[in-house]
Amino acid sequence: MNNDFDVLIVGGGMVGATVACALGDSSLKVAIIEQSPPEDFEPQQPHDLRVSALSIASQNILQTIGAWQGIENRRYCPFKRMRVWETAGDTEFCSDAIKAEELGFIVENRITQLALLDRLQQFTNVEFFCPATITKINYAATGSSVELDDGSVINTKVLVAADGGMSRVRQTVGLGVTSWDYQQHALVIYVETDYPQQDITWQRFVPSGPQAFLPLTDNYGSIVWYNSPDEVRRLKALPYEALMDELVDTFPACLGKLKQILAVASFPLKRQHAQSYVKQGVVLAGDAAHMINPLAGQGVNIGLLDAAALAEVLLDAFKNGEDIADIKVLKTYENLRRNENLKMMTVMDIFYRLFSNQIAPIKFLRNLGLGLAERVTPAKHKVMRAAMGLEGKLPKLAKGESIL
Ligand SMILES: Cc1cc2nc3c(=O)[nH]c(=O)nc-3n(C[C@H](O)[C@H](O)[C@H](O)COP(=O)(O)OP(=O)(O)OC[C@H]3O[C@@H](n4cnc5c(N)ncnc54)[C@H](O)[C@@H]3O)c2cc1C
Repeated sequence: MNNDFDVLIVGGGMVGATVACALGDSSLKVAIIEQSPPEDFEPQQPHDLRVSALSIASQNILQTIGAWQGIENRRYCPFKRMRVWETAGDTEFCSDAIKAEELGFIVENRITQLALLDRLQQFTNVEFFCPATITKINYAATGSSVELDDGSVINTKVLVAADGGMSRVRQTVGLGVTSWDYQQHALVIYVETDYPQQDITWQRFVPSGPQAFLPLTDNYGSIVWYNSPDEVRRLKALPYEALMDELVDTFPACLGKLKQILAVASFPLKRQHAQSYVKQGVVLAGDAAHMINPLAGQGVNIGLLDAAALAEVLLDAFKNGEDIADIKVLKTYENLRRNENLKMMTVMDIFYRLFSNQIAPIKFLRNLGLGLAERVTPAKHKVMRAAMGLEGKLPKLAKGESIL
């Protein structure tokens, strides 16, 4: 087998697999390495704890590269309404107001990944190595290689790091990060409810942190409870009946009646941003480049925008006869994405600090903000379009346009 590729993607998660599919059917020779294959989907399986709110821009990307159908064929939950409130301010956003079918979709991460992995295996120019264990990464500005534990060596012009927040590729090639801990953890609780879910997600802000509810299919939902690391550890260690009592005492009545808790997990909240996304012949995408507060569910959405922008830049350069590994080409991608991602991270931070602050003037300001968002129609529409991922400079795939 000839193991020389134009593009080698390390990480077949949602972002890496999107880069591979976006380059599918092109003239580039693409390889993608994933260490652990996701478990197959069965309709009777309980929902996974890891779910994401996918934006309309993400849906456009997945649809244009041919992976959305794989999600529809499995399991997903569209939502039309989004409610946000705290002590006095309260606002509800509804897609009808901007004549849109939905605001977004709650999808299990594994289902998005499975849909993408199915799709990428249909392309003759994409080679999928899975399960595969990398023993060594050799980076050189003139071309890199990756060694696998079966002894094979894969050579590439461009090495794409899509291997998550702890990215080994990023560390090996020496691209540094700035990071800090939010001193908060998110407790994710998978529940069965008495009644089927509706089309609404909600988030309430209380002094200890946000509380959120995401609808899943049928009578199931996902609760996210942000709190101090100690409090999350205490809650997670409780027997499910005791945790249920705490939920009923602490969460608002709109949570409705819960039948049972089915699973619980917790995640530390961290912000991390690579100081540079590129180096000659190497590029970062998704969580390998940035980790963002999950408060407004934007992490994978901005990762999919990275994937779409990267594929577009590489294909444009290739069509123009340029060297796709050249730092000038890769910088075009960085210029398109790094500032956009930084803006999103900053907005999330301002939001987070504003809503976790109990100083009276700040409380007044945020209630005023929610009140204004409720009453001023253009502002409300803009917030909705931002949540749908439709604001700002978008790559072609996010607008539903082909890049081939
Ligand atoms: C509590 C919580 C809630 C969240 N909710 C949302 C939400 O609602 N909406 C949203 O947009 N985002 C959300 N996020 C963020 C989202 O989960 C991440 O941004 C997303 O998973 C990043 O995808 P990725 O493909 O970049 O990385 P990952 O999902 O980490 O995938 C990396 C892949 O690389 C593989 N890999 C790693 N190392 C190697 C190696 N050496 N060799 C081969 N393969 C390797 C891994 O197996 C994995 O498959 C949430 C995060 C948290 C913690």
